[in-house]
Amino acid sequence: MSIAELTGIDGPTGLLIGGEWGKGADTFPVFDPATEEPLAEVANGTVSDGLDAVGAAQAALPGWAATPPRQRAEVLRRAFELMTARSEQFARLMSAENGKSLRDARGEAAYAAEFFRWYAEEAVRIEGTLMRAPSGANRILTTRQPIGVSLLITPWNFPAAMATRKIGPALAAGCTVVLKPAAETPLTALALADLLAEAGAPAGVVNVVTTTSSGRVCAAMMDDPRVRKLSFTGSTEVGRILLGQAAKSVLNCSMELGGNAPFIVFDDADIPAAVEGALIAKMRNGGEACTAANRFYVHDAVADEFIAAFSARLKSMVVGPGLDEATDVGPLVNEDTRSKVASLVDGATADGAALITGGRAPQRRGYFYEPTLLDGVAADSAILSTEIFGPVAPVVRFTDEADAVRLANATEFGLVSYVFTRDLRRGLRVSEALDAGMIGLNRGLVSDPAAPFGGVKQSGLGREGGHEGLLEYTETKYIATDW
Ligand code: NAP
Repeated sequence: MSIAELTGIDGPTGLLIGGEWGKGADTFPVFDPATEEPLAEVANGTVSDGLDAVGAAQAALPGWAATPPRQRAEVLRRAFELMTARSEQFARLMSAENGKSLRDARGEAAYAAEFFRWYAEEAVRIEGTLMRAPSGANRILTTRQPIGVSLLITPWNFPAAMATRKIGPALAAGCTVVLKPAAETPLTALALADLLAEAGAPAGVVNVVTTTSSGRVCAAMMDDPRVRKLSFTGSTEVGRILLGQAAKSVLNCSMELGGNAPFIVFDDADIPAAVEGALIAKMRNGGEACTAANRFYVHDAVADEFIAAFSARLKSMVVGPGLDEATDVGPLVNEDTRSKVASLVDGATADGAALITGGRAPQRRGYFYEPTLLDGVAADSAILSTEIFGPVAPVVRFTDEADAVRLANATEFGLVSYVFTRDLRRGLRVSEALDAGMIGLNRGLVSDPAAPFGGVKQSGLGREGGHEGLLEYTETKYIATDW
């Protein structure tokens, strides 16, 4: 079946540079992780394509920056409406190239569109300040200006939302962009760029370069002085490389990197609510989320009850192709991801963990792995210090609040932490003590376009979403004024 028949979107597969769709000199295949079969051939951008895209973004910058905020907002608002009208096609496209279940993909289509709506509303709220200098000699006036051409690099796990979370605020602020999506999932990004053109984004405001040479193409763009901003979402490992490269031109960077989220269940928690929260925090997107709960710290007094209820729910989940309506858990994105997940589980059981459910890759085509629950995981098991990125929940029991906080914080990551307790004093005390940019307090989901999303420590720099997300694409200009 063709991609258009599968998804309802007969989207572009070329490079979008300066409002023109180009073929590129070469192509690369995109695979369906449920069948391992190729879905489409996409243009393989080169260094010169990347630099042309930067040139197109630079040429479009003065016009877009000068466009009245209300007009920029209206383009984003139309993009929201178009994406909402086509949410089912976008969901199917994401499911086809990423593998996620339709339920997850529908959730992502709505979440991704919401960034266009939120930033349509924020585009008209770029404020400055005015104050009298303490000496009384003059006034201090500040304004916010668009930072300029922005390079946006996105991962494969949320092919739509990670792109709209960057494009929305960048366009709202008056910046023009070059988007470099992950090679595993370029089709959604290309369809989004097409939609933005239809919504009225002028030629050159949004450019897309797909490539299998991301290192070389992005390095050349980052070295180009016309690029003034890098916004990256992906692994901490690649984030470190990019930060090193950005140092050369002192490029403004926003970094949304990896996570290793603890999920703490206290003995006074509402256990059914904690299990529901665990299912969302662990199983949304099949565990392939930076916010995925990676380590479950459960108080010994409630651990048996929590594990029994959680494992019953995991066992009942249907594993299958994302495009099947019955599927709860789709395949992982590729074989590397699945073998990494399998080896972490094998390592944990070899270190003494008990396998409560799962622990196997089903015998079928596609990169599937069963929902898995491990109990009694050894403190030094690699699974507790590595981002699993799969449907595997390792449980460690604790008895003391201070120990739980110490264990939760014993990582170089600090994106999100989850806390379940009925005691609000404890909930807020522990939330303050956890080294994380975000806390889910009696909630398994924190992502919200209206909220500042981001991490501390090696989980990143800066915030996306909310008003903060808009400010990342602006520079403050201070004008010392006398009158
Ligand atoms: P990744 O391997 O770091 O890749 C992310 C993006 O960077 C892709 O577009 C990739 O392109 C590109 N890339 C890889 N090497 C590069 C280089 N040397 N120079 C420039 N670009 C390069 O991450 P992933 O496997 O796609 O995504 C999973 C990771 O993203 C996880 O660690 C997850 O936690 C993190 N993530 C974080 C957030 C957050 O908001 N904090 C959200 C989602 C995901 P190619 O794939 O084409 O090489």
